Amino acid sequence: MLLRQITTCTDPATTVIERRSQKAGQALQYRLGTCRRHRWLARDWRGLRTRSPGEGRCGTVIDYRSYERIVQSHADLWIGPSTTQYLQMHGGDVARTLRAAHAFKAHAADDWVRRPREIETAMVAVLDHAARLAEAIEAEQIDVESGRGQLLAALSACETIDAAERGA
Ligand SMILES: [Zn+2]
Repeated sequence: MLLRQITTCTDPATTVIERRSQKAGQALQYRLGTCRRHRWLARDWRGLRTRSPGEGRCGTVIDYRSYERIVQSHADLWIGPSTTQYLQMHGGDVARTLRAAHAFKAHAADDWVRRPREIETAMVAVLDHAARLAEAIEAEQIDVESGRGQLLAALSACETIDAAERGA
């Protein structure tokens, strides 16, 4: 199970989105809560939406999916929209996708903005960290299980920064 926090908001969740597997057993894949103000952040998250019973914090995602599915979800939900780089463009190669995403953001911070906002600089740094972890996993310089845990943690941090950049 992986915990993600996609907003810095501390309000209680008013809406809960739950996605279950289509197979027998209907195992929970993820549960995401948002407050009224941040409902827009969950626009692209599929699943059953219900009113929150008043527990949980806005932006908290409890994710039970596999490493591959979680990385795909990061790529589809924010890495692609924010950096123009999607896994499919790089043959599903996580390291290459993240390195290209980092290069895009670093270029944007250098060239398009006269004075890079701190938030963009932070995103460039965390994307670099995530790309380096993915490269180390691929080169077998790091224990795969530990490396994947570290990579997912880095992506979670970057996801929160990205949401902040978009005004969450
Ligand atoms: Zn909120």
